[in-house]
Amino acid sequence: MVKLRQILNTISQQNCFLCSAKADGTTCLCQDCLGGLPPAPSPSCLQCGASATNQTCGQCLKHKPFYDETHARFSYAYPVDTIIQHYKYHHALYLHHTLAGLLQEKVMDATVDIIIPMPLHPSRLKERGFNQSLEIAKVIAKQHNITLDSTSCTRIKDTPPQSSLAPKERIKNMKDAFDCQATFTDMHIALIDDVMTTGASLNALAKTLKEAGASKISCYVIARTA
Ligand SMILES: [Zn+2]
Ligand SMILES: [Zn+2]
Repeated sequence: MVKLRQILNTISQQNCFLCSAKADGTTCLCQDCLGGLPPAPSPSCLQCGASATNQTCGQCLKHKPFYDETHARFSYAYPVDTIIQHYKYHHALYLHHTLAGLLQEKVMDATVDIIIPMPLHPSRLKERGFNQSLEIAKVIAKQHNITLDSTSCTRIKDTPPQSSLAPKERIKNMKDAFDCQATFTDMHIALIDDVMTTGASLNALAKTLKEAGASKISCYVIARTA
């Protein structure tokens, strides 16, 4: 059944995912729909990417995150939210090239040593069949010729979906969620995730990586809530 759906998805990708007009060839969207995607919050906090008038938002000043900067491509609003949800929950794997292509337009800092996608807990991976962030990270790592490391960090805590929790609970939920089996002494790491909401998951992962020696962590996300 999944296979059939994947085949149908592949066939339909010549047409725009959103409006069925002819897609532009390299993505699953037409030029009009591409131009209408909601831009990332701006002006925004350099550290967490949230909408802010100062370089560092009040939240980051109060609780300094472990990651150093955030690059978001879009705002998490219609139709980007629909595309991402479809990609994640409807096996629309063909959308990963479109999403990766769009994220790629965010120039990756030349000092990035390694790319790490947000790990999924094994039980969530089994349920979904693929790690949405890993699929996007693979394309970006190849394009930029940067090493991809999807095995050193694992998610050891099977947490309830962050979207079901209040912001304070999200932080508690993520405590000790990750384990890292490698050292990243003085490395600049780019973390890839699909959606950033409060940043609690990225922050927990960044903390683990800083403890493993990383000197700088940059988050690259497809979409950021304002
Ligand atoms: Zn369209
Ligand atoms: Zn901030």
